[in-house]
Amino acid sequence: MSEILEAWLRRSIDCACGQRHELPIRRIIIERDAMKQVAGYVKEAGFGEVTLIADVRTYQAAGEKLRELLEAAQVKVSISVLRENALGEVAADEEAIVQVLLDTPLSSEVLVAVGAGTVHDIVRFASHRTKRTFLSVPTAPSVDGFASVGAPLIVRSFKQTIPACAPEAIFADLAVLAKAPQAMIAAGFGDMLGKYTSLADWSLGRLLLAEHYCELSARLTLEAVELCTANLDEIAQRTDLGLRKLMEGLILSGLSMLLVGHSRPASGAEHHLSHYWEMVLLQQRRRALLHGAKVGVAAVLMAQRYEALQGLTAGEAAARLAQSQAPSELTDAERIRQAYGDLAEQVIAENYPANSTAVDAQALKARIIEKWGDVQDIARAVPAPEQLMAWLEAVQGPVTPEQLGVEPELVEASLQDALFVRNRFTILRLLRLL
Ligand SMILES: [Zn+2]
Ligand SMILES: [Zn+2]
Repeated sequence: MSEILEAWLRRSIDCACGQRHELPIRRIIIERDAMKQVAGYVKEAGFGEVTLIADVRTYQAAGEKLRELLEAAQVKVSISVLRENALGEVAADEEAIVQVLLDTPLSSEVLVAVGAGTVHDIVRFASHRTKRTFLSVPTAPSVDGFASVGAPLIVRSFKQTIPACAPEAIFADLAVLAKAPQAMIAAGFGDMLGKYTSLADWSLGRLLLAEHYCELSARLTLEAVELCTANLDEIAQRTDLGLRKLMEGLILSGLSMLLVGHSRPASGAEHHLSHYWEMVLLQQRRRALLHGAKVGVAAVLMAQRYEALQGLTAGEAAARLAQSQAPSELTDAERIRQAYGDLAEQVIAENYPANSTAVDAQALKARIIEKWGDVQDIARAVPAPEQLMAWLEAVQGPVTPEQLGVEPELVEASLQDALFVRNRFTILRLLRLL
């Protein structure tokens, strides 16, 4: 059991933010041989039949062993090994979801995700919609989505986050995590570094648009990323301590999303860039890149923009705001149609949902000028881009778009149009007014 995480199990919190937060996760084990505890948990909960969902690699890395452990404890096990698509990868899309539904016997009571982010997203959705218990066995500390509630799925080539459920219990076996490829460990660390910019984006939304903000959730998210940066050397050397701290950070970040019921604390413009790159790669039928690798690189790009904000005086900001053209539904729709092709109508609906009032651009500009000092305080809280780069380098993660395999044209396009991926206020939405 992890001490840091234990405090957040099965909690119900009447929060100062005005919301009542529910944390339904019952057990989180991060240790060597954590997998050995799955069978006991299943039997204790009164279940007799489970389905393991994995891909070819994660079945070998952990699924097979878990199956033996469960069968030795007289638990009936069925297996769903997710098929790869034409590009040789498993995606969290319609095909994978249907495969899980077809592979799961009606009598199966529990779905166990044995894998990294993608497998978890598929199982999170399938278990939620079929009302089966969801257990998590991560095979790599690669993403902060293990504990979270939303399932980012690709439906008709559009990446969207569908509300689903958190796992009831997480069994992170350090012996399994220790065998994860370095790129996946670096990706987990990159996903965490993105919290610095996502938290700043959330603060901007709170400051400028009076968006709901939860201090507790924001504090947990910051604690999560600092757990990782404070243990950088251990993580870089892949020690048990380092892997445990990274996993704790990832799960804690997931819990901070669970608290508020959405991904706002942990996902800002750096994630929108990442999603944009992912969709373009998908449209061009190119191989997917690791989520956290994209987020780490995008976080550096966003930190550069926060750094530039610090150098802008209130007078300069006011002059730019006076000159900039305020976006309207009409001009945005035109831009989205140019940038998003077949996906444009869905993206327009995301940005301009029916029955919602659009942001008053003039009022927003006035507020930015009025609160410029606070905007700069938010910008100053983001670590320098060089710092983020040094951290990424230390874990051998990609630092630049070039190292990641994202070409300059795509970076340029995303800086213009990724803000439309989600209807959330971020540094990119601030910058288009400046
Ligand atoms: Zn992420
Ligand atoms: Zn709260």
